[in-house]
Amino acid sequence: MAEKKIKLAIGLGSTCAGCDIAILDLKEKVLDLVALADIVFWPTAMDFKLSDLEKFKEKEIDISLYHGTGRTSEHEHIAHLLRERSKVMIAFGACACFGGIPGLCNITDREGIFKSSYQETPSTRNPDFVTPKTETRVNNHTLTLPELRNDGKALHQIVDVDYYLPGCPPAVELIERLLPIIKEFIETGNLPPKGTVIASDKTLCDECPLEKKDKMISKIYRPHEIIPDPTKCLLEQGILCMGPATRGGCGARCINVLMPCRGCMGPTSEVRDQGAKMISAIASVLGVEKEKERSDEDVEKLLDQIRDPLGTFYRFGLPVALVNGRVKEAEGK
Ligand code: SF4
Ligand code: SF4
Ligand code: SF4
Repeated sequence: MAEKKIKLAIGLGSTCAGCDIAILDLKEKVLDLVALADIVFWPTAMDFKLSDLEKFKEKEIDISLYHGTGRTSEHEHIAHLLRERSKVMIAFGACACFGGIPGLCNITDREGIFKSSYQETPSTRNPDFVTPKTETRVNNHTLTLPELRNDGKALHQIVDVDYYLPGCPPAVELIERLLPIIKEFIETGNLPPKGTVIASDKTLCDECPLEKKDKMISKIYRPHEIIPDPTKCLLEQGILCMGPATRGGCGARCINVLMPCRGCMGPTSEVRDQGAKMISAIASVLGVEKEKERSDEDVEKLLDQIRDPLGTFYRFGLPVALVNGRVKEAEGK
């Protein structure tokens, strides 16, 4: 057991708690983590309250992990508190790194979300359009609920972030990389350069075990429509795989079970916009670059095969994408 231990806090925004489970997936290595760190705040796993976090002085916590998207005033409050009370702040998981799946809310606004959640779903009967209020009376007490923000935000869009550990959820092998970083910090006070992404800086295609032959395709298949050859690149078999636009480091865990990459590790440091990079990769695999040899109608037919382009190209990163905001502008919101 290390003689000195750090104080570790794990806070959250809008989260599915998969990131918490991923930490527990360290299995026996959780013991290595608790040998290095006293967990001083982790409300998903233990009975911590916000007041437990508030009692810490400025920079008294050594390292904070934050997972989930910033969707409400409370998520922002927790992010600010953790930032203020911690020396080091790590965005943990795709939601905190890029806005994640809850960040897809940015195609609409608060009113749109309330409408689709409380009025327009086929199973909802709510003629008076009753929606949650920010203040409610429970047992003679007034309870103020957090206010839902119009936009979902990645952590760095709320507070300053030191490191990023992407993935939905982060792969256990990447979480394990935190252990020597914490140990080094305890022993020497040294940390990696600010902004380091704890993952590979190559694309997933660079690490993918499947064979690539620069083959062109003329049809796009959804995963349930085809049984792929287990040795060949999925994209070259017509299955949309985000590998060319996605950072490696996850161990190609989806590819290993013949499911296409959905892009949860975000882009590499050389790519500004993951979706734009993927659109260009698809253009070459569809042969759209040879547009002159195809009629406009053919090109349109090829591109029409891509179902849900926004959800495909920006599933995990709409809040940090160049198109964020432009979507609402285009819809007049
Ligand atoms: S990154 Fe994935 S696993 Fe983690 S909170 Fe977001 S949706 Fe859940
Ligand atoms: S596109 Fe997908 S399947 Fe093809 S090499 Fe890249 S990661 Fe592998
Ligand atoms: S293969 Fe893609 S979607 Fe699957 S874990 Fe890796 S980066 Fe995420």
